[in-house]
Amino acid sequence: MNITFLGAAETVTGSNFLVEAAGKKFLVDCGLYQGKATEELQNTEDFLYNPADIDFMLLTHAHIDHSGRIPKLYNDGFKNKIYCTHATKDLCSIMLPDSGHIQESEMEWKNKKRIRAGEEPLPPLYTAEDAIKCMELFFSVGYDEIVEITENIQVRFNDAGHMLGSSIIELWVTEDGKTEKVVFTGDLGNNDIPLLDSPTMIDTADYLVMESTYGNRLHMRNDEKAELFLDIVSSTLDNGGRVIIPSFAVGRTQEILYEIDKLKETHMDDEAFQKKYKTLMKVPVYVDSPLAISATEVFKKNTDLFEEEIQEKLKNGDHPLEFPGLKFTPTAEESKALNDEYTPAIIISASGMCEVRKNKTSFKT
Ligand SMILES: [Zn+2]
Repeated sequence: MNITFLGAAETVTGSNFLVEAAGKKFLVDCGLYQGKATEELQNTEDFLYNPADIDFMLLTHAHIDHSGRIPKLYNDGFKNKIYCTHATKDLCSIMLPDSGHIQESEMEWKNKKRIRAGEEPLPPLYTAEDAIKCMELFFSVGYDEIVEITENIQVRFNDAGHMLGSSIIELWVTEDGKTEKVVFTGDLGNNDIPLLDSPTMIDTADYLVMESTYGNRLHMRNDEKAELFLDIVSSTLDNGGRVIIPSFAVGRTQEILYEIDKLKETHMDDEAFQKKYKTLMKVPVYVDSPLAISATEVFKKNTDLFEEEIQEKLKNGDHPLEFPGLKFTPTAEESKALNDEYTPAIIISASGMCEVRKNKTSFKT
């Protein structure tokens, strides 16, 4: 067996591993490089293997730094199966076309400059349409089942607790009558990520390929974050302001909705809390990003992946992503109309939208 590290090594993004084993060549993840312009330039480079020679791919989760070069891989000749969980497939079906849109609009902007400078326009890395096409390769499986890809290659996807559908992949390879096990952790979640289960404990491995992005950092406890959140929200609203939360559309937005839902259901006699609580209850909460709205729908479709405590709530008819005052703005008109209102509100927006909102929203003092 031979494993080549082609991304997310000496850097965080661009996850891409090539495994050559049991007569097959396959990939684990194929993500975009994101961040520094010099790193992003690597996205346009040719793959260091021929995509048409790759027999299959294993995808740990839908985040773009793990999945975002799949449409390019498809365009460059890869036409075989991509194994992932059901929720990862659902999320990729919205996140990859969204990434395609971003590629198109970024290139349109760059090309305007290129044309002005007398240079030839360039095509985008891939288009939204390419991204829709590559979804035909996705083959989804459930957690915890052993999938026999060939006689000598088996895999199992285990909950990584990092995002909806995220997986730690166990891989068994048999060569010359000897079976060895490799574990790819993908990105790992914390034990207290809202909505999701804790990462699965894997007992054994011969080889372990592990992410270590936050390996040297202690995260703030989640209950402390919720308290801080309520403080900021209530003081802003009390001042007649609007709370604008730039948020990742997938994962973070749903965590915020869940925390607001939880706060709205909290009963505490404490006077200080009651004051903040009343402020929170008065205002509408808008989800103002088409991707975040679609992602919330995917979360609602996959509630079987939520942690046990939430499963119980669901059985009692209490949905963690629904509460009075929650509004969505799926159309551009509805989104624009938000700018014309000056009443206090909480607006969860795509992270890139914050600059625009900041400029257009007037704050009463
Ligand atoms: Zn991730």
